Amino acid sequence: MPNWDRTIPDDDRKCGYRLERTPPDGTFTAIVTCHELIGCYTHYWGGRTMPCERPDCPACNANSPTRWHAFVSCWNPSTHDHVLFQCTAKAAVAFEEYQSSHGTLLGCHFRAHRPKRRRNAQVVIDCRPADLTKLRLPAAPNIMQAMAVIWQIPRAALVADEAVRGAPLVKALSDRMAQAFDNPADGNGRCKPPEVHT
Ligand SMILES: [Zn+2]
Repeated sequence: MPNWDRTIPDDDRKCGYRLERTPPDGTFTAIVTCHELIGCYTHYWGGRTMPCERPDCPACNANSPTRWHAFVSCWNPSTHDHVLFQCTAKAAVAFEEYQSSHGTLLGCHFRAHRPKRRRNAQVVIDCRPADLTKLRLPAAPNIMQAMAVIWQIPRAALVADEAVRGAPLVKALSDRMAQAFDNPADGNGRCKPPEVHT
C-alpha cells in the first residue's frame, strides 16, 4: 500500500539556488526572505568568479583585484522563484539602512536597477516593506551553503559543519577552489580549466 504524504521530504527538496544580479537594462524585483545580508570578497580569476581565500589565496598571490559582494535570499511573488541576489557593497548600503531601521531585512520588497542602463553600471536599490499579512514567504536557505553549491567549492575545502548536504561533488581531487575548474562564473555557463603555466 502506498504511503502518501502531503509534505515533501527534506532530503528531496532542491538544494540549489540560482544566483541573480541586476540586469543591465531592466529591473530585478523581489522580497527578501533572510534576516540579514551576508557578504564576502570575491575575485574574477581564471575566467570565473571565486571567493577570496585569504590569507593563502592563489588569486591574491597573482595580484588579482578583489571586490566585496553582498548576498541575500529573495522571493518573487509573481513567479514564486526563490533565488539568491548578489550586489556590490555600494548597492548593499540600501539593504543595511533598511535592516537597521526595521530590525530585519525579512520582508524588504526591493527593486534593483542600473540608472545608466549599462552592463556593470552602478546599481541602485529602492526598498519598501512588503505587506506580510497577505504573503507567506518561504524559509530562507543557508546562503553560505547555497553559495558553496553555486561556486562548486570542493567539499574538502569546507569545514565539517559547513559541508553542503546533497551538493554535487566536484570532479577534482584538489581541495583548492582555484583549481576547481568546473565552476561557472556568475551562472554564465561552464568555463574552461584555468591555463597552467609550467
Ligand atoms: Zn584572494
